[in-house]
Amino acid sequence: MPTASDYDARRASDAGTADGSVLRELTPALPKLSTAIVDDDPNEAAFFELPGADLSGEELSVTVIPQRADEFTCSRCFLVQHRSRLRSSGGELPVCADCV
Ligand SMILES: [Zn+2]
Repeated sequence: MPTASDYDARRASDAGTADGSVLRELTPALPKLSTAIVDDDPNEAAFFELPGADLSGEELSVTVIPQRADEFTCSRCFLVQHRSRLRSSGGELPVCADCV
C-alpha cells in the first residue's frame, strides 16, 4: 500500500517541524498560567465539603450473594429470582412471574 507509507512519512516530518514551533510558543505562556492558578482562595475548599456525617468509615452491611445456577435475572425488572418464577414470554429473554 504505497499511499499508507507516503502518509506515514509525511506525518513524521510534519511532527518533527511542528514540535519545535509549538514548544517555542508555549514556553512564554507558562509563567502566566502559574500566576493565574495562585488566584484560587484556599478557603474555597470548604465549600466542596458536603454537610452531614462522614460516611467514609461506614462498611457495607448488605451481603452480596452471586446468582446461583437455579436462579435467573428478569429482563424487565432485573431482579434475580428462582427458576420456579420464570415465565418465558416466548422470546429468549427471561421474564419473571410478576412481569408477564
Ligand atoms: Zn421481573
